[in-house]
Amino acid sequence: AQTRAPRRIVLLGATGSIGRSTVDLLERDPEGFSVSAVAGGRDVEALARVARAVKAEFAAIRDENAYDALKEALSGTNTQVAAGREAVIEAALRDADLVVSAIVGAAGVEPTYAALTAGRDVALANKECLVCAGVPFMRAAMEAGVRLLPMDSEHNAIFQALGGEDPARIERMIVTASGGPFRTWSKERISQASVEEALNHPNWAMGPKITVDSAGMMNKGLELIEAHHLFSVPAEKLEVVVHPQSIVHGLVAFADGSVTAGMAAPDMRTPIAHCLGYPDRLTTPTPRLDLAKIATLTFEAPDFDRFPALQMALDALRSGGGLPTVLNAANEIAVEAFLDRRIPFDGISRHVAEACEAALRDGTANAPESVEDALAVDHIVRERSRAALAGRAPSGMLTLQ
Ligand code: NAD
Ligand code: MG
Repeated sequence: AQTRAPRRIVLLGATGSIGRSTVDLLERDPEGFSVSAVAGGRDVEALARVARAVKAEFAAIRDENAYDALKEALSGTNTQVAAGREAVIEAALRDADLVVSAIVGAAGVEPTYAALTAGRDVALANKECLVCAGVPFMRAAMEAGVRLLPMDSEHNAIFQALGGEDPARIERMIVTASGGPFRTWSKERISQASVEEALNHPNWAMGPKITVDSAGMMNKGLELIEAHHLFSVPAEKLEVVVHPQSIVHGLVAFADGSVTAGMAAPDMRTPIAHCLGYPDRLTTPTPRLDLAKIATLTFEAPDFDRFPALQMALDALRSGGGLPTVLNAANEIAVEAFLDRRIPFDGISRHVAEACEAALRDGTANAPESVEDALAVDHIVRERSRAALAGRAPSGMLTLQ
């Protein structure tokens, strides 16, 4: 029986991996939710499909040239249509009980920040918001008095493992990592990994950017920075443990020696459902955890030598300034270049290291005072990284013996 009014949802990044998993849950509970707005990047057909499926009141597409096509694709519906950067922000500001932030990359910062400052609760899948602009972003959430729910699986598990205890009293916070497709590979083999190999994640089907980040363990580095801001836990208390089965997603260790763990079968619909329902629980169709069937859970220390991106992200976090903003922007452009086959896999971390060093020399890595400052640094670093990587022709690395 219906006990509450439908919860109003805005879904940013509606056509992506998180977006589609969210839509799957929303479609199963049409009485429980109503969708005020959906937003996507460039895929008109996919956005129109989602908007129809959830009967969205408003659909915004980032590509400013896609207005006519989206209008056409949504003809015969009651969905209002808009296109361009402002349109995505307008979507973020539509009336809602919860804004799901699932745009990929720093492109998600502006609309998510707009939603926060307008007083909306936010479910945060987009970790780049906190890597790019952590301090001012969290300050804005605090000042607006809004709730930031962690949708990233590790942070969601930790949030649940905390069980409402004060994060200031915890001893350690542990984020698990699957280790990705290159967990057992030599450094030499990783350096020449192909795009197909990097996109072949053992446990999760995700968008291309986060999948490449996971292959080099940059994703785990970004997640440590994310955890630091979300839970205000200092870098010294944060740890990574590699856990190839992806069953335990995050752990919290307390002063008395107790350790609580957040566990679930690896299906993003579980953390998404936790955020959509919070503080209630939705019933999901996700696979149930059968520990006897899984039988073995293993854990190993991360290898910072084979996965230098993890070390770099940790160093950026420990430096306490604006290096995470720089690291994030350079990484996005380098991942793009890798996906375009312009640089080899190990060229990603090499480029990020160079970008961080350059930013330290010229002051670009100073701590941003505001989200606007962080976005300005993001913009500068992107331009530089594009210029630095532009000359690279699609490489012949696939033909290397
Ligand atoms: P994805 O590439 O599958 O989807 C990205 C979405 O963002 C798409 O809807 C795309 O159209 C939209 N988009 C891209 N650029 C945009 C722009 N400039 N303006 C508006 N929309 C734009 O990515 P994903 O895997 O769904 O990941 C989304 C975010 O969630 C990332 O920050 C990622 O780190 C995080 N996340 C993803 C997973 C996962 O399982 N996929 C897990 C944890 C966290
Ligand atoms: Mg994660």
